[in-house]
Amino acid sequence: MRIHVTYAGGTIGMVDTPQGLAPGADMRGFLDHVIAGTQLTSDQISFTELAPLIDSSNATPENWQQMIDDLRAHRDEADAFVILHGTDTMSFSAAALSYALTGFGKPVILTGSQLPLGLIQSDATANVTGALNAALSGKARGVTLFFGHHLFWGSRVTKSSTWAFEAFDSPAVEPAARTGAPWYWSPVRHEGCGWDDPKPYARHDIAVVDMVPGITAARVKAALTPLPEAVILRAYGVGDVPSDEPGLTDVFADVIAQGVPVVVVSQCEQAYTLVGRYEVGDAIAKAGAVGAVDMTFEAAYAKIVFLLSQGLRGAELAAWIGKPLAGELTTATE
Ligand code: ASP
Repeated sequence: MRIHVTYAGGTIGMVDTPQGLAPGADMRGFLDHVIAGTQLTSDQISFTELAPLIDSSNATPENWQQMIDDLRAHRDEADAFVILHGTDTMSFSAAALSYALTGFGKPVILTGSQLPLGLIQSDATANVTGALNAALSGKARGVTLFFGHHLFWGSRVTKSSTWAFEAFDSPAVEPAARTGAPWYWSPVRHEGCGWDDPKPYARHDIAVVDMVPGITAARVKAALTPLPEAVILRAYGVGDVPSDEPGLTDVFADVIAQGVPVVVVSQCEQAYTLVGRYEVGDAIAKAGAVGAVDMTFEAAYAKIVFLLSQGLRGAELAAWIGKPLAGELTTATE
């Protein structure tokens, strides 16, 4: 069994600097130290350090593509892949990689830590050994994220805590596995129709608009001027917006009429959108806004970037939102 490790950055490899935590640890040395005396040997692990190493708050779709390119470059040399990544946007990257790698055919496991590897109180060793264990198991499928004793589906995971060692959660489906002696592996798989030969990720202009009590049409119109390529509307509950606010739902109807898809994501972490179920959601539903079903915000955002990168626009893009590409949402038949 050969494992390729791609080190992208994040707290896991950070050291204290006068400006705060920044990348600087000897990650390859740490990996060799972690596996010393185990059944894994150093020559089973190949290693790439991406340049520059980043705090994942600086990640863009170009960084997603950099990871994908590194995985593809080493595809034939390894049986499984581990990516060391910052926690802040790891769930975005996990979703983005899930869409782009449906044809990859080998498991990819992202992990990181809440505290840098050089501290005795750090969770780095537990998470790295967990990810390596998942890679070695032969049971991991697709893109997953290991953190705090759980292996989550990459298209279903969200960061839920800034401090807990159980920092990630999967609000809609049970994790792929949880640690123990032995590990428990869920019998359920989350897959989709895939995407052949995807074009590379590129940056796209997606406006994210949150509903709050008292929001006005003027504020939302200003936020959507000039027109973005797509809108994520973070609505209340199952997809509700304040319909009594003069002109507010018209702003969304207008952008849809101009060919911009509006995707409705719930502000609730655990959600299943039913846009138009209530009178308050009726106008945007009739205008053509589409619900993100039970996708996480991260999965919905990365999916829209993916679809825009494939050249889809407007209603054509909107039609793909409810179809699972990589297990990111639950269809009515499941
Ligand atoms: N800001 C860091 C990052 O996302 C946080 C972490 O890794 O925990 O890179």
